[in-house]
Amino acid sequence: MRRRRRFYFPITRTLVLLIIMLVLMACASWMLVEHIKYLFASHNDLQNRTVLTLAANIVDGHINATLAHLQGLAYLSSVSAAGKDGAIRDEWLDRMRIEAKKIGFRRISISDFEGNTISTTGRQFNISNIAEQEQFQKTIYGFSSVSGVVTDRITDTSDTQGEVIIFQVPVFKGAVVTGALSGAIGLEDASSFLAGIDTNYSGNSLFIIDGSNRIITYSKILTDRNIHYRHSISFFDYMSNIIAPEEQGYILKNLGGLQAKNIYMYVTKKDQHYFSFTPLSGSSGWKLVEVSSEEGIISTQRNIIYRTGLLILAVTLSIIVSLLCLYIISWKYYKIRALNRTTLEKSGFHLFMLSPEGIAEDFDEGFAKLLGIPEHSFSFDFRELMDKDQTIFPQNSIRMGQSFRLPLHMADGRTIYLLIQVIGNEEGGFYQSFAVDVTKDELIQEHIRMIAYTDLITMLPNRESFSLKVEELGRRCLRESFNSAYLFININDTHKILEIFGDRVARNMLLEAANRLSSVAKECGGLLYNLGNDNFVILLESFSETQELKYICSKIKDLFLRPFVVFDNKFEISCRVGAVPCPEYLRQTPISPSDMFRYGEITMRLAKNPDNMFILNAKTYKSIMKELDIERDLAQSIIKNELELYYQPIYDSINDRIYSVEALLRWHSVRHGDILPKTFIPMAEKSGFINQLGDFVIDSAMAFASQLKDKDVKVQFNVSTIQLMQSDFADRLLAKFRKHCLSHFSVGMEITEACFLENAPGTREKLGRLRACGIMVFIDDFGTGYSSFSYLKDMPADCLKIDKTFVGGLETSNKQKTIIKAISYMADALGMLAIAEGVETKEQLDLVLQSGCRYVQGFLIAKPMPAKDVIDFINGFNSED
Ligand code: C2E
Ligand code: CA
Ligand code: CA
Repeated sequence: MRRRRRFYFPITRTLVLLIIMLVLMACASWMLVEHIKYLFASHNDLQNRTVLTLAANIVDGHINATLAHLQGLAYLSSVSAAGKDGAIRDEWLDRMRIEAKKIGFRRISISDFEGNTISTTGRQFNISNIAEQEQFQKTIYGFSSVSGVVTDRITDTSDTQGEVIIFQVPVFKGAVVTGALSGAIGLEDASSFLAGIDTNYSGNSLFIIDGSNRIITYSKILTDRNIHYRHSISFFDYMSNIIAPEEQGYILKNLGGLQAKNIYMYVTKKDQHYFSFTPLSGSSGWKLVEVSSEEGIISTQRNIIYRTGLLILAVTLSIIVSLLCLYIISWKYYKIRALNRTTLEKSGFHLFMLSPEGIAEDFDEGFAKLLGIPEHSFSFDFRELMDKDQTIFPQNSIRMGQSFRLPLHMADGRTIYLLIQVIGNEEGGFYQSFAVDVTKDELIQEHIRMIAYTDLITMLPNRESFSLKVEELGRRCLRESFNSAYLFININDTHKILEIFGDRVARNMLLEAANRLSSVAKECGGLLYNLGNDNFVILLESFSETQELKYICSKIKDLFLRPFVVFDNKFEISCRVGAVPCPEYLRQTPISPSDMFRYGEITMRLAKNPDNMFILNAKTYKSIMKELDIERDLAQSIIKNELELYYQPIYDSINDRIYSVEALLRWHSVRHGDILPKTFIPMAEKSGFINQLGDFVIDSAMAFASQLKDKDVKVQFNVSTIQLMQSDFADRLLAKFRKHCLSHFSVGMEITEACFLENAPGTREKLGRLRACGIMVFIDDFGTGYSSFSYLKDMPADCLKIDKTFVGGLETSNKQKTIIKAISYMADALGMLAIAEGVETKEQLDLVLQSGCRYVQGFLIAKPMPAKDVIDFINGFNSED
C-alpha cells in the first residue's frame, strides 16, 4: 500500500519501542538494585552510631516531652486534691483521667508530702507501700524522674496488673514541694518511645533497657523467644543465644562506665552481631541498644531487592502486556484492513484517493503495478496516460456516486480502460474512489461489436453495418447534397457450388469473391459490405454519371471471368450487378435502410437478364413500385370483394348448343380499375397468393355449376401449375366437388401443358383420381408449350384446347389449318375432345369446323360475361333448338 497517511499501528516501530523499553527497564532495575546494595553495603560503625544517636535523641525527646507534660499537669494540681475536699478531688480525678488517656498513662496519681496518694483508678494509699517509694524520696527533693521497670502494685484488677514505668514530677506550691505527681506507663504502651524510628530497612533492631538492663520496649524481636510485656525480662537473658556468658560480663563492665551521649559498641564473636549501647539521658540509667547482624542485613537486603525486583517485574510485565494488547489490536486491525484490501484487490477493485485534477493517491500495489507507477511514488497523475485533448480532468463538479471510464495509453502501446467510481466525500481535496480494470469487458464488447457488424465468413462489414452506413448517409444528406450509388452484387448459382463441393469450398469461394470485389471497391473508392451469404454491395459515396456506373458494373462482372480455384477445385461462376443511383441525396432526401434493401432487391431481380446487369432508373422504379403496389392490393382483393368470375360460353357445333362455360377471373380493383388476368395471375403465382385465389375460383365456379345443373352445361375453371402442385390439391378439390353435390363431368379443370412438362411428382395420379371422381381435365393453350406428344398418350385428359394463336390468321395460313386438323384428329384418336379458342370471325369458325374441330370458343360466340348474363345467354341459345 502506498500511503501518505497511515492509520494502523506500525509493527516495526512497536517492536523497536518494546525492545528500547525493556532495555531501559533492565538498566533502571539494575541501577536501583545496585543503589540499594550500596545503601546496605555502606552499613558501618559510623552509620550505626549516627542511627543510634539520632534514635537516642528521639527517645530522649519523647521522655522529656512526657515529663514536661506531666509537669504541666503538676502545676494544675493541688495537694488538697489528695484528700480533704471530695468535690474538688473528684473533679481533679476526672480531668486527670482524660489527660492520662491522652499521654498514654495507665494511671496518674498524686501524693502529698507524707506520701498519701490518690490515683485516677480511684484508689487511695500511701506511697511508702509501693514501688515508687524510693523514687518519691527523690521527687520531694524537687527532681523529676523516670523509673525503671517496676511491678505495678496498685492496679485494680489482674487484667491491668503488670510491669510499668513511672514518670514522676514534684508538685510545687510556690517554691516548696508539696508532693508528687506520678504517671504509670504499662510496658505494652512503652513501644511509643520508639514510634517514628524506622529501622526496618537496615535489618537491625532497637531496644530500650532500664538501669537493671530489663527490656522496656523494642522495635523488632531478634530471637525465637517472644518478649512478654507483663513481665519484663533481662536484655542479656534474652540475648543469651547471641551473646556468650563471658561476653555478657565484659559488656556489662563496659556499660558501667558509659557516659551520657557516649556509645559503646560490641561485636559478638559468634555470628558477628553488632551491639551499640548509648545512655538515654532523660531517664535514670535507661539505655538504647541497637542490634544488627550481617545475616539480618543481608536477608533484609535480599527481601527488599526481591520486592523491588518483583515490583519492577510487575510494572515491566504490565507495560509489556499493554503494549502486546495494543500491538495485537493494531495487528488485527492491520490484518483486517489488509484482508479487506486483498479481497478488494483480488476482486479487481482498487481503492484510492482522487483529486478533481486527476491525481491519485493512497493506492495499492496492484493499482501501481497496473498503471506502471514507479516504486516509492505516492502520487500519480492520470492525465499522463490520457489523450492530450481529454476532457475528463479537471473535474469541476466531482461528487460522490459519480463514475467515469478512462482510456489509458500505456508505455508498451496497450490501451487499458479503468472504470472509476467516486464513493466518498471530499477529504482534504481528495475523494475516496475505486477503480476497476474493465479492459477485458471493453475488448469483449469490441469483439461483440465486431461480431455484430462483421460477416464472419468474408470478414466484411455486414448487413447491420450497412444499415448504419445508409442511416449515416441519410443524415449527412440533410447537411450537404451529394450523388451516391449502391452496387448490389449477387453471385449466381452459389447453391450449386455448395451442393457439388460442400460447405468448405463454398465458404472459401465467397472469401475469394470478397477479395476480388474489394479490389474493385478499393480502385473506385467504394466501401464493400456483405449483406449475407453471396450478396454483396459496394457503396460509392460519390460518382459523376451513369456511364461510370456501367463501367464499374462491367468491371465487377469481369472479376468473375477468371475461374475460381478453391482447394484444387476449379469452377466458373458469374455474378449479376444491380446499380442503384441515389439522386435522393442530391435532393437532400434521406433513404431508410429498409428502402435501400428494397431497391437492392428490385435491381437484383431486374439484373436477372442476359446482361446480368441492371441500373435502376426512376421510370423502371416507378413501374416496379406500381407493380408491387398492385401485388399488395391483390392480396386484399378477396376480402375486399373485388373479384368476380366471368364466364365464356363454348359452342358445340354438332348439337348447335352451348356445351360449357369457361370461368375467367376478373379483378375490379377500386384503386387500379379493372385489371386483366394476364397481369395479376402471374403476380399471384409469384407471391403464392394464387392458391387462395384458386380456391375462390373453384368455389365460385362449382357454385355456378350447381346453378347450371338442369341446363346440362359444364363449367370449366383454370388451375395454375402452382395450385396443382399442392399435395392436398386433389383432396380439397374433391371435397368442394362433393360439397356442391355436383354430378359427374359437370365441371372440368383447365391446366396447361407446363403441368406435364414440370413433371411434378404425382401429377398424373392426381389427375387420374380427379377424372375417376368425375372431374374433367382440359389441356389449355395446347400447342404453345414444348409440344411433346409422347406425354399425351398416357395423360389422363378429356380435352385439348387449341391455342388461339393457331386460330388467329387462320384465314390466310394453310399451315395453321393443318395444325388444327392434326390436333383435332389426334384428340379424336385419343378419345378426347378438341376446342378451338379465340374464334372471332365467321370465316375462322368455318375453317375450324372444316378442320374437324367440333367445339369452339371465342368472341364470335360470346365474350366472357358475368354469371347472370351467361345464364341468360345459355337460356337464349340452347332454347332455340
Ligand atoms: P385462357 O385460359 O386461354 O383464357 C382464354 C382467354 O382468351 C381469355 O382471356 C379470353 O377472354 C380470351 N378470349 C376468348 N375468346 C377470344 C377471342 O375470340 N379473341 C381473343 N383475342 N381473345 C379471346 P382472359 O380472360 O384475359 O384470360 C387470360 C388468361 O388468364 C387465361 O387464358 C388464363 O390462362 C388466365 N386466367 C383467367 N382466369 C383464370 C383463373 O381463374 N385461373 C387461372 N389460373 N388462370 C386464369
Ligand atoms: Ca383457359
Ligand atoms: Ca387458352
